[in-house]
Amino acid sequence: MIKINEIFYSIQGETTYAGLPTVFVRTTGCNLRCAYCDTQYSYYEGSFRDNSEILTEIKKYSTNFVCITGGEPLLQKSVLILMSLLCDLNYKVSLETSGSRIVDQVDPRVKIILDVKTPDSGAKDSFLLENLNSANTLTELKFVICSENDFNWSENFCRQHDLFEKYTVLYSPSYGNISERWLAEKILIKNSPARLQLQLHKIIWGPHERGV
Ligand code: SF4
Repeated sequence: MIKINEIFYSIQGETTYAGLPTVFVRTTGCNLRCAYCDTQYSYYEGSFRDNSEILTEIKKYSTNFVCITGGEPLLQKSVLILMSLLCDLNYKVSLETSGSRIVDQVDPRVKIILDVKTPDSGAKDSFLLENLNSANTLTELKFVICSENDFNWSENFCRQHDLFEKYTVLYSPSYGNISERWLAEKILIKNSPARLQLQLHKIIWGPHERGV
């Protein structure tokens, strides 16, 4: 059983899967409290569902893409089984995690998005560096940038760990803190190899809606 906050169908707003119709499975609970968190409703609300109930819900939609998100999905071990089941059924599965929990048991067919927390997130140092050992060619590293200090910190982190050479690195502007243009220009001026990521769903629906 997994405590699920919500299952919904929308456009993937982030990662290299951005723009694709996707079923989102949001688990309940998070061990962090990021300053910019827009899913505080997922901290406690939800109900326990078994894998067959979850699969039935997912199959209602015609897409092949499923995103497991939270909260922090890896707080619940049963999520690992669900992801492997979905991979067996030929779904393209992505997992959004802060990387504050070990990812080495995640099925290697899953695209892991490691959301490395910056200083201004308020959760700096939550990322487990050993998770980089479990990264593969599918893995993407995401940094939500709130300030110039965050930008510089992220650049240093990526270069220190050779992330630009090995993985897709995504820089996303923290909604309401810095503008897309500010971050785009910063990437260009500083010759950063990072890929600018805009939260498409917020551009389309605004900060509080998430799709159909
Ligand atoms: S990790 Fe995600 S869900 Fe948890 S507090 Fe941070 S932004 Fe919110």
